[in-house]
Amino acid sequence: MLHKLTAHELHKKLMNKEVSAVELCKNVFERIGVVEEKVKAYLSLTEEPALSMANEVDEKIKAGNDISHLSGIPTAIKDNMCTKGVKTTCASKILENFIPSYSSTAVKRLFNEDIVMLGKTNMDEFAMGSSTENSAFWITSNPWNLKTVPGGSSGGSAAAVAADEAVFALGSDTGGSIRQPASLCGVVGMKPTYGLVPRYGLIAFASSLDQIGPITKDVTDCALILNAICGKDLMDSTSLDTEIPDYTRALTADIKGLKIGVPKEFMGEGIDAKVKKLVNDALKIFEKMGAVIEEVSLPHVDAALSAYYLIAPAEASSNLARFDGVRYGHRTKQKVENMVDMYSKTRAEGFGDEVKRRIMLGTYALSAGYYEAYYNQAQKVRTLIVDDFNRVFEKYDVLVSPTSPTVAFKVGEKFENPLKMYMSDICTIPANLAGIPGISIPCGLADGLPVGLQIMGKTLDEMTVLRTAYAFEQEFGFKEKPAL
Ligand code: GLN
Repeated sequence: MLHKLTAHELHKKLMNKEVSAVELCKNVFERIGVVEEKVKAYLSLTEEPALSMANEVDEKIKAGNDISHLSGIPTAIKDNMCTKGVKTTCASKILENFIPSYSSTAVKRLFNEDIVMLGKTNMDEFAMGSSTENSAFWITSNPWNLKTVPGGSSGGSAAAVAADEAVFALGSDTGGSIRQPASLCGVVGMKPTYGLVPRYGLIAFASSLDQIGPITKDVTDCALILNAICGKDLMDSTSLDTEIPDYTRALTADIKGLKIGVPKEFMGEGIDAKVKKLVNDALKIFEKMGAVIEEVSLPHVDAALSAYYLIAPAEASSNLARFDGVRYGHRTKQKVENMVDMYSKTRAEGFGDEVKRRIMLGTYALSAGYYEAYYNQAQKVRTLIVDDFNRVFEKYDVLVSPTSPTVAFKVGEKFENPLKMYMSDICTIPANLAGIPGISIPCGLADGLPVGLQIMGKTLDEMTVLRTAYAFEQEFGFKEKPAL
């Protein structure tokens, strides 16, 4: 049953010597042995190095050394973060055999805390998608109902945590890829302020939007992981040079007088009635705890999805130009006429349909003659959305909304219709465009499937976001688990 516990509960057990890190690691691998066949959350498992990492932690404990809060905690990493010596595929054929020679900063920081890495999780190819169905290898199932998707693109990470196949996981969020799968899988997922967690070693999708963050079983674990991964990195010039507070100090459950805005644009058309009801119930709980709730408006977020689907593909088309079959990754085995032919055959074989769609869309949006009409316009819309948020944050401490307009949908339901799939992120994309922090926490079940509540905060005000989330979690006490 150890696999069911949170990192902070397990830390106590390790410290009290009630359990060893090796026992814990074996226990989680046993759990993986039982459920992974159904869930398929992982693309690769690294049992041997995991056990030796766990053994090192036990040695430290035995020697009476201090251990960190995350020492010995079994962890899953999304497969778009480079892990030294461990295959990192981005769920793409083009990187099928890519073994990085270095680890991404976020992962390295976790290794410095002596976490035990279990393996790399499935995702939509290059993090493009909302269901993990765009993986080049296989689909992951939602542990709550195996016929439904876990969300995406960090679907493997969220499913692994929900199915107790990892104590926590790292995901990445460009337009909702941490929060939306966390919502669909009934776990906690947070996208910090843009730049707070370094992107060095995160395989780039859309550089001005990408952000790494934790997927956990509760808000306390989320704060502990932020403590470990946030902060300036010289290898990432966009990482913020700012003082990192101790995020666990936000866990007070006191939200008396907190001003909560509820953007009406996030509660209107397209949001499932059952989702809306649970979000409204959550708002009543906040009110009971002494928060002040008011409706607000972000008039330009209606255009967020359109702006995102110009900006993100534009950046992706540029970022993905490096996959040319020359230096690393897949190279075509077909006979080629010249270098351009080699590029084109390699990329045609290596990329999946959604990635190709984004590259074409992005290249078009950036091309001479169209740049002004598309890319520039989208950037202007982005600025208007930033202004909208700034305006409401003058008066309100946090904004609350659904994370996803629906609960987990059926495998295949939206796969053939990209536009429908893109709509899954209408509530999460605005926070990426504005760079602000957002968390998703479970707020109940609708038809047996989890619903997530999104809390967004001011730039670098993770503390208030966590405080609000923790207060809700303590009061609401979501204890349901998938019956796997
Ligand atoms: N679903 C969105 C997309 O496909 C967001 C993905 C993400 O956050 N990585 O682009």
